[in-house]
Amino acid sequence: MIDFHCHVDLYPNPDELVQRCERAGLYVLSVTTVPSAWRGTKALSGTSKRIRTALGLHPELAHERESELGLFDELLPEARYVGEIGLDRMPGTESRWPAQSRVFRHILASCQRDGGRIMSIHSRRAIDAVLDELESFPRAGTPVLHWFSGSQTQLKRAADLGCWFSVGPAMVRGRRGRELVARMPRARVLTETDGPFAQMDARAAQPSDVSAALRNLADLWSLSVADVNNILMGNFRKLISSAVGSGAQSSYFGDEVRF
Ligand code: MN
Repeated sequence: MIDFHCHVDLYPNPDELVQRCERAGLYVLSVTTVPSAWRGTKALSGTSKRIRTALGLHPELAHERESELGLFDELLPEARYVGEIGLDRMPGTESRWPAQSRVFRHILASCQRDGGRIMSIHSRRAIDAVLDELESFPRAGTPVLHWFSGSQTQLKRAADLGCWFSVGPAMVRGRRGRELVARMPRARVLTETDGPFAQMDARAAQPSDVSAALRNLADLWSLSVADVNNILMGNFRKLISSAVGSGAQSSYFGDEVRF
């Protein structure tokens, strides 16, 4: 199973979480919210072959941490995965949007200049704005839209642009979310939890909770959980064996699947 968007460094006991993921054989993309957290977060996964750490600057922190863009650029050659990045257009935060846009554009330009990256992207209430930016930087890499919550029209636009989608258990609780997930291109779907931010049965979600997303997908696609898992593992292998970001120094996720 795969958790393609999890904040490993934000759990109270990340070492224990890493060990549990290792024992369960889970593949985890450990996303970060500021560049200054990248090295420490990377160290948490130790020698794990199934956990990779993405270099990020979260849109909700962009206005405070724009000064870390220099560090972002310094670290980028070492990072094959970039995230969490993106835009967030929650009403009431308008004063932060210009900084957010500058940060997102800077990151996309850096990724494009450095051969592209696999990117986990936040787009809350900002899907069209995110897609506009991705269109402006067509060689920034492969976008994986995390927790997509737009309209069917926006979903089609994203899919036509080549976006991937990481789907968490919370996304398929409502009818609208299920209808969106049902229309996502099956060959470009992965699972995620967004733990510990996302909740699962009134506690922080953890990577093994992607099993719930697998069951939801099995229902939506009228397939067995085992078949869905095979599809998702095939998608995952295709994504990580692509040339995107393969020039980065810390490229691979181990031997069986070179993540
Ligand atoms: Mn997140």
